[in-house]
Amino acid sequence: MAGPVIIGSERSEVGLTAGMDILRHRGSALDAVEAALRLCEDNESDHYVGTGGLPNARGEVELDASVMVGSTRAFGGVGALRGFPHPISVARAVLDRLPQHCLLVGEGAELFADECGFDRSELLTAESRRLYADALAAEDEPVEGEGAHATAGDRRYRETTRALMRRFTPHDGPWGTINVIALDESGELCVGVSTSGYPWKYPGRVGDSALPGAGNYCDLRYGGAACTGRGEMAMRVSGARRVVDLLAAGMAPAQACAAMLEDARSLPDPFSAELRALALTPDGRHGGAAGLLGSMYAVMTKDARQPELRPRVVVEVGR
Ligand code: ASP
Repeated sequence: MAGPVIIGSERSEVGLTAGMDILRHRGSALDAVEAALRLCEDNESDHYVGTGGLPNARGEVELDASVMVGSTRAFGGVGALRGFPHPISVARAVLDRLPQHCLLVGEGAELFADECGFDRSELLTAESRRLYADALAAEDEPVEGEGAHATAGDRRYRETTRALMRRFTPHDGPWGTINVIALDESGELCVGVSTSGYPWKYPGRVGDSALPGAGNYCDLRYGGAACTGRGEMAMRVSGARRVVDLLAAGMAPAQACAAMLEDARSLPDPFSAELRALALTPDGRHGGAAGLLGSMYAVMTKDARQPELRPRVVVEVGR
């Protein structure tokens, strides 16, 4: 058996040490993933997860999160959850306390979180409010290439298209959903994902992070995988499930992630943006792939004092 190990996407480092502490004390992969992601959700300088996450087009923060356990393939997820700072814990409560269901969204997810006694809090920070206000101001820019012959309808059409493109374009700086995958001492695997989703998304939009097979999949026979980035593409190719199927077919983790990204890249997508994936096998092998050079993932093993960064295999962003 490979010793316990925990891996995560960019910016998961703030939580991995706490996750590894749990694994070192023979805690479960599920507890380790939840503890690691809660710390990421508390990191206000991270604008893609939890408190400080960027809001939807109406200025409201809506969070998606999920957990999946490898031996049972039990899944718990929440989508478009408002007002609760730790969506990963609500997702876990769905898994633990609502075995007749896998996924709750919106008002129902909030009702359930209240029933479970989770604390509510304001998720918009001064900085995320400022970033939202700046993005709205940018909507007034003139439409490039608009000629004298354009009708008011042409102009409106182009403005709407450009505004939408801007909304779905990743914000500058380190961005994206946080994925954490843990293998515990007993050999159990767990995948967790948490995000505020694409900035300025359509209200009510739920991304890959809440969905089994799309942003999160875990099967103890073959491995666990998770996605970050353009969630609609992860949904269209069943990204995380595809990576696990490729592990089952004998591919190494980084190659399985890269093959899934190649598949996503072959599809038409006018909002084409980077998609990234990570995978960990039950024997402790791990790897990742990304659409941009320089993208890394973090790994922490039992004897490490802190997470180490490893490069991902690069597959160019789609057309
Ligand atoms: N995958 C997330 C989503 O589509 C976004 C991201 O990772 O940036 O909601």
